[in-house]
Amino acid sequence: MTDAYSINIHEHGGPEVLKVEPLEIGEAGPGEAVVRQTAIGLNFIDTYHRTGLYPVKLPFTPGSEGAGVVEAVGDGVEDLKAGDRVAYLGAGAYASHFKGPAARMLKLPDSISEETAAAVLLKGLTAWMLLFEIRRASPGETALVWAAAGGVGSLLVPWASSLGVRVIGVTSTAEKAELARAKGADAIILSSEDVAARTRELTGGAGVDVSYDSVGKDSAEASLNALKPRGWFITYGNASGPVEPVPPGILNAKGSLVMTRPGLFHFIADADGLRRGAAALFGALRAGTLKADIGQRFALKDVAEAHRALEGRGTTGATVLEP
Ligand code: NDP
Repeated sequence: MTDAYSINIHEHGGPEVLKVEPLEIGEAGPGEAVVRQTAIGLNFIDTYHRTGLYPVKLPFTPGSEGAGVVEAVGDGVEDLKAGDRVAYLGAGAYASHFKGPAARMLKLPDSISEETAAAVLLKGLTAWMLLFEIRRASPGETALVWAAAGGVGSLLVPWASSLGVRVIGVTSTAEKAELARAKGADAIILSSEDVAARTRELTGGAGVDVSYDSVGKDSAEASLNALKPRGWFITYGNASGPVEPVPPGILNAKGSLVMTRPGLFHFIADADGLRRGAAALFGALRAGTLKADIGQRFALKDVAEAHRALEGRGTTGATVLEP
């Protein structure tokens, strides 16, 4: 396998610690498949691994999802064969080739390209977890969606909207506001405004049923203040930094609120969760409820630039890395 390479970090730090290095992928072991990758999804979590916010053992190959064509399978693999197109979630995706458990790889239907899969798999399963698994979103309720034009946001907005949820998106610029509206947001609040006060205005003083909050440190207080009594604060990301601890008494004082900090991997750890989520996501793509919204593409070797853009709020929709 000539010219195989991966992007590795040997220390935590800024985007400059991402290094292109030769890769020895080796044979597929029992239960494994080797995939020649054609598209890799960029996710905010990759930046947390790079900085050390989420601890990893060094040296480390970042990257959390990819898609491509199976080159070889190991003993005992019956559901996949060379030539199959697959997508997967797994650590170490920043590479020309990926080796991992075949049982966790999803065969792609003909209607879903590898690039689409890399753009939507992790982010779309996150939207599925938020709308169906943590609590079921219901028609007639109102939701606040932070970073509404971002990777997860650009899938969460149309999916919620298709379920009859009134979506109030929060974003930072007029251009992103337009994108979120085009995806189905009923109203937009700019993050420079008083988000909780604007939410009250837009809901006749009532507040929202749920806040899907990916921003974290800078948004948690506004999320809590924007909720109805018994509303849900679903804090699922740290784009601006980790949320400060919230004393339980605050949840009572603001109206018996529910707070949860979910992680997708707990919802798809078993085969059943992964298959159910993928079926819902692929179904929503087939039905046209969701579309891959690839705002930008980077060569995998330029991944440092992609990290700068994502952390600098310079991206919209999904970002795909091309090996
Ligand atoms: P996004 O494409 O949404 O990018 C992050 C966005 O956050 C930015 O574009 C920006 O949107 C907003 N933002 C607000 N404040 C900041 C800040 N200080 N620095 C940078 N960005 C900021 O990324 P992803 O879709 O990949 O991920 C979104 C979030 O969801 C991340 O926090 C990620 O960790 C989390 N996540 C959590 C999962 C889970 O299982 N819990 C799974 C997947 C993602 P704007 O300019 O509109 O404010």
